[in-house]
Amino acid sequence: MKQTVLITGASRGIGAAAAKRFAQDGCRLILNYQKNEEKIRALRESLKTEVLLCRADISKARDVEHMVQKALNAFGKIDVLINNAGIAEQKLFSDITEEDWDRMFDVNVKGMYLVTKAVLPGMIHEKKGKIVNISSIWGMTGASCEVHYSASKAAVIGFTKALAKELGPSGICVNCVAPGVIATDMNAHLQENILQELREETPLEKLGTPQDIAEAIHFLSSQQANFITGQVLSPNGGIVI
Ligand code: NAP
Repeated sequence: MKQTVLITGASRGIGAAAAKRFAQDGCRLILNYQKNEEKIRALRESLKTEVLLCRADISKARDVEHMVQKALNAFGKIDVLINNAGIAEQKLFSDITEEDWDRMFDVNVKGMYLVTKAVLPGMIHEKKGKIVNISSIWGMTGASCEVHYSASKAAVIGFTKALAKELGPSGICVNCVAPGVIATDMNAHLQENILQELREETPLEKLGTPQDIAEAIHFLSSQQANFITGQVLSPNGGIVI
């Protein structure tokens, strides 16, 4: 039976690369996005597998319930959940408004909670499933001028570890991928000299690609990772060791 995989934030960057990786196995895909209709449609056209597109703002409970119901109506079950959708913002701590703080946590933390909560009953019923949450190296080390982003990504790690303990007896593995600096829209605003500095700080002397992260996500979702739960895998070129 083909695996059914739900990926949040699949229209661009790491989520789109993960969709392509799972499609290579012929998985059935539920691809979530918020706004980028054109990109997600183009992605669907390029994939030679069954794809359901679901527009939803993951920070909104009603959107998420509707998305998961639509997915279950179409495919009957969800075997793998990739909590990837996220936002980032660079600001001095003193400039972060309450609204900035809430939006960061609403998408990066509450969104993950809402999607996981909606998907879990099916996995618990099946007594199997894989959940991979996307954190960041900044959730491990903290980044200057990204306190709200770093705190939200540290929360992803805490969530992963606690849920892994709770769901182990139900046969469900929960892990985390914490990427280093990856060339996606999220970093498109960074100037070339900053990107060059980041390359120089990285032992492998390069930025990561969305495909590098997709491979780590795919591995943790696979049968090869059946004895791995509650772990943080950080593909980062050695910038954090
Ligand atoms: P990206 O290129 O900016 O793409 C973000 C994706 O998330 C898009 O598909 C976007 O949908 C979706 N999204 C944003 N807010 C959403 C919401 N409220 N509801 C549903 N979908 C939403 O980002 P990326 O670089 O691929 O990052 C993916 C994940 O990796 C994020 O969690 C990020 O924090 C993490 N990460 C990235 C890096 C990096 O260097 N790039 C490093 C560490 C961790 P639309 O296109 O429809 O707007």
